[in-house]
Amino acid sequence: MSERRKFIKQSLLGSAFLIPGISSASTQDKNKTPPLIGEMPLILSTWNHGLPANVAAMAKLDTGGSILDAVEAGVRDTELDLENLSVGLQGLPDREGITTLDASIMTGDGNCGSVAFVRQIKHPISLARRVMENTPHVMLAGEGARQFAIAEGFPLEEEVLSPKAAIEYAKWKETSQYKPIINIENHDTIGMIGIDANGNMAGSCTTSGLAYKMHGRVGDSPIIGAGLFVDNEVGAATATGLGETIIKICGSFLIVELMRQGRTPQEACEEAVRRLISKNKNIDDIQAGFLAINKEGLTGAFAVHPGFNFAKATVKENVLIDSNSHFKP
Ligand code: ASP
Repeated sequence: MSERRKFIKQSLLGSAFLIPGISSASTQDKNKTPPLIGEMPLILSTWNHGLPANVAAMAKLDTGGSILDAVEAGVRDTELDLENLSVGLQGLPDREGITTLDASIMTGDGNCGSVAFVRQIKHPISLARRVMENTPHVMLAGEGARQFAIAEGFPLEEEVLSPKAAIEYAKWKETSQYKPIINIENHDTIGMIGIDANGNMAGSCTTSGLAYKMHGRVGDSPIIGAGLFVDNEVGAATATGLGETIIKICGSFLIVELMRQGRTPQEACEEAVRRLISKNKNIDDIQAGFLAINKEGLTGAFAVHPGFNFAKATVKENVLIDSNSHFKP
């Protein structure tokens, strides 16, 4: 099943339909397909919610926005998605019942901003962009990030769990046990990377982090080089999954540096997964997945376990692809 690729084509106007059996993903099998220059502009984002997020990102490009505007607009869509329990204020809370958010944004010229452990902000990705553009810093955390948001005119949202999150939290409190589950319900940060028609890149990453984490825990998503890294000279990468394991290998930076040394995006993602696995004795309960684009517009995706999918958008189509994984089921 891990090699089955499921393609859902979604017109950029929003209607979704299934195209079974189309083969693609030349980037997934470099031995069979000669390298092609990828189509640009191109947007990749993690998980199912990448499909509508890609639509929002491409719409922004279409109306004259920059690639930075596009990756911000794309994940803002996910930050508002009430069905999503891992991104935005409707995300599952920490063990104290408080939802705290992490986000980062980066451009291909090396500029970046992030916020961590922030509360009551509906769009942490936009706050991360303000940190990048309006402060001399890269990262603001916790109460300081919240105060900066107020100074920048961001409204503070009421601190209540969404109805869905409240039900899940009440269930969790019956045992109060935290055990990461390696599936889509537990890990669905959105990471988005994109390249425009001129080869400029940008990326964004936003999450409520792991459900029922310790209060104060920060994952990989706001850590530049872990959850996200972008360099116009080489390419871009983003990550999802158990943040601690991604931070420990500087996952996204590692992938960009491997591409700098000549690896394809696919080879670089696979090597990052190998590295992650080599550093963790028991990977049964650890899921992590990576996405990458190089400056030619070629793509790569790989994960520790099956079940990691991503959305890939060009001007022609927006498709959902199951990535390969290190361990076949
Ligand atoms: N990477 C995120 C974190 O560790 C979790 C996720 O991908 O869902 O906070």
